[in-house]
Amino acid sequence: MNTNFNINNLVRANIKALKPYSSARDEYKNSASGAMVFLDANENPFENGVNRYPDPQQKEIKQKLSAIKKVETNQIFVGNGSDEVIDLAYRIFCEPGKDKVLTFSPTYGMYDVSANINNIEVIKQPLINDFQINLNQLQPYLDFEDVKIIFICSPNNPTGNSINSEDIEYVLENFNGIVIVDEAYIDFSAQASFLKNINKYNNLIVSQTFSKAWGLAGVRVGVAYASEEIVALYNRVKPPYNVSTLNQEAVLNRLDDLEEVSHIIGIILLEREVLISALKTISYIETIYPTDANFVLVKVDDATKRYHQLIEKGIVIRNRTTQPLCENTLRLTVGTATENKKLIEALKSLEKN
Ligand SMILES: *Cc1c(COP(=O)(O)O)cnc(C)c1O
Repeated sequence: MNTNFNINNLVRANIKALKPYSSARDEYKNSASGAMVFLDANENPFENGVNRYPDPQQKEIKQKLSAIKKVETNQIFVGNGSDEVIDLAYRIFCEPGKDKVLTFSPTYGMYDVSANINNIEVIKQPLINDFQINLNQLQPYLDFEDVKIIFICSPNNPTGNSINSEDIEYVLENFNGIVIVDEAYIDFSAQASFLKNINKYNNLIVSQTFSKAWGLAGVRVGVAYASEEIVALYNRVKPPYNVSTLNQEAVLNRLDDLEEVSHIIGIILLEREVLISALKTISYIETIYPTDANFVLVKVDDATKRYHQLIEKGIVIRNRTTQPLCENTLRLTVGTATENKKLIEALKSLEKN
């Protein structure tokens, strides 16, 4: 527990004073709606499956997630992708033009983009020693009053490794702002989730997503797990109907098929190992970085050249050469066995040119 953490010192004054929009579906809360006549929201009365507004609180999803993840429903925020989880954190905690956040480079690009949109400065600390946090270098920033959020992406994108959990705990215990642990790739990781710590650390937000292991990138649903107080702030600031009926249904269906999800994760993990073994045979791949995610970062002789050569062969990967500490690296997503074979064949065919 971080005893110096006081959420009231962190929340922006306008958010504290905010009177949230109260939607028709929020004001009338009766789930036994069968016989009711709803003339409160100016909806079209003719049934077509989506003529009614969605549940603004996504109760069914939260109930299912609560059982699966062993957290209370009021410790869950469901967002329009992790993008919304990130953006709302800026809007709740960071005063535009004044406050700052801290990230560890190289990492996920959206922390930066969302900061720029919200006019928030980003302090970027380079990762060291196999892409881990440099706690010595971080130390002075832990006491900066205008640093409101520290983002820790674990497993990290684009490097693939998990961040040492003792280091994450150190940050949680010694930083009086919000720590967002982005666990977009946690289902592929050998390291345990920080979810079990949301009762222990009142400054922790664990961000997860349905976009990767759960196979619903097109659906756009991300989830934040945190203290009841933090989740209540998210609910005040979010657009009232932030997750559509169709998106909620897609997630609910997926949550009913946990076996299928873990089966697919198993296949991807297996394919990751097959892919890594094959990458070891490619002469111009200099380093294969250890990964806890569904992608592999590799260092090659000339990333931009290899990237374009692969495009010509119809294979699109991610060139990460311009990212800090990532010179001449390529990020390869683990595909199906067939896709990975095509990738390896293409990489092999480039060995002589
Ligand atoms: C892919 C990814 C996400 C997912 O974002 P969504 O908006 O939920 O699709 C979040 N964080 C990281 C680090 C990612 O790589």
